Amino acid sequence: MPEKRVIIVGGGPAGSSTAYFLARAGVEVVVLDRAHFPRDKTCSEYMSPQASRILEAMGALTEVEDAGAAQLTGMRVHAPNGSTIHGEFAADHGYRGHRDRGLAVRRTILDSILLDRARTAGAEIEEGARVTDLLRDDAGRVNGVITIDESGKSRERPADLVIGADGLRSVVGRRLGLIRVSRWPRRIALVTHYSNVQGLKNFGEMYVDRGGYCGVADVGNGLANVAVVVPVSRAAEVAVDRTEFLESWLAERPKLAAMFATAKRETPVRATGPFATSAKRAWAPGAALVGDAAEFFDPFTGEGIYTALRGGEILSEHALQSLRAPTVRTADAALKAYEKARRREFSGKWKVERMIGAAVAFPALINRAARVLSRRSDMADLLIGVVGDFVPAREVLRPGYLLSLFLAPVART
Ligand SMILES: Cc1cc2nc3c(=O)[nH]c(=O)nc-3n(C[C@H](O)[C@H](O)[C@H](O)COP(=O)(O)OP(=O)(O)OC[C@H]3O[C@@H](n4cnc5c(N)ncnc54)[C@H](O)[C@@H]3O)c2cc1C
Repeated sequence: MPEKRVIIVGGGPAGSSTAYFLARAGVEVVVLDRAHFPRDKTCSEYMSPQASRILEAMGALTEVEDAGAAQLTGMRVHAPNGSTIHGEFAADHGYRGHRDRGLAVRRTILDSILLDRARTAGAEIEEGARVTDLLRDDAGRVNGVITIDESGKSRERPADLVIGADGLRSVVGRRLGLIRVSRWPRRIALVTHYSNVQGLKNFGEMYVDRGGYCGVADVGNGLANVAVVVPVSRAAEVAVDRTEFLESWLAERPKLAAMFATAKRETPVRATGPFATSAKRAWAPGAALVGDAAEFFDPFTGEGIYTALRGGEILSEHALQSLRAPTVRTADAALKAYEKARRREFSGKWKVERMIGAAVAFPALINRAARVLSRRSDMADLLIGVVGDFVPAREVLRPGYLLSLFLAPVART
């Protein structure tokens, strides 16, 4: 029997996973997205090995693999001083991901598959519906949304729970007054796809430079995803001609220039940023936030898709309790428990992300870390496992690990 009605704003990975798990539990779910799928999303399109667990739980893993997703065995980070960190997902540290490989695939493909899984589970999907505001009852509790369709027609839609899965500039989060825009790091990204990239291997590559970084990875079907991320102070140059900016970035760096000498750009260069935002808390009476709407830091460690999928899985359990609660007070207590659960799940990883974010911003730090990790594959594998979402963050937050990384003497090569 259908239960109460949930409106999910946004049909990306966070919205699809929340919708899938709630619909499967018998809840009436409506997903509203302003876009029409397949829609693109500016992203490096890599998924950590642990994302496969949730794809499998949603019945999407085989379809994603059959759609031509590239399989990545690890990550390689090239520091400005020439040192290279190479970490593998399958290693001897005693932890194992759901798969030994990460997947990389175009978001046009992935997001459509995920949204279809939500639809198959029973969620109603409405595309071309932009949410502009929230409805509230006399006590200020959220009880629906206002949408505007493509003909400009506005509509009020009541709901027992509204979930903001509407990405970085979440309208739900902003209307709730929960979003904090971080002062640091303020970066922007340019993303495109090339064919015929030379020397592309089965791991994601990051080239860190003094003025930013560039990620290159196979995303299957003959394409490589290329993302150049620079401080927002370069926005004016980017605005003049973003394609020229990205192509010059590749051409001016010898390693990248060699890889792209005969490559052909296949998609327009898309720009996004600045990114770093977080919600003071990911819930309010009658509403909750998930995915980028709740928190996004920086693309370097590339696990926003996992966080979105896992966040949806966690939220759906608490949303169910909230919907079934006998009183408004207990309904809110269930959402408050969601906040605690997501902090418990992600806070260690947030610390590691910030540590990596700082290292990338200061060449002396990333150079030093790379010198250490290029000789300590055990430490590199642990770090890549944390980034891959299957090694607990505490493994690299231990004083011994941090001391070796940043303070212990290391010979220069
Ligand atoms: C440059 C860059 C590279 C990245 N690379 C990686 C990577 O390699 N791996 C990784 O895991 N993560 C990466 N990320 C992060 C990843 O893209 C996000 O974390 C992920 O997309 C979050 O999913 P989501 O569902 O929360 O939001 P989104 O995927 O942004 O989906 C939000 C949806 O909400 C809809 N929407 C927005 N506003 C409204 C509205 N008002 N009404 C109705 N619908 C609305 C949008 O149309 C969209 O479909 C990267 C991010 C950036 C910026």
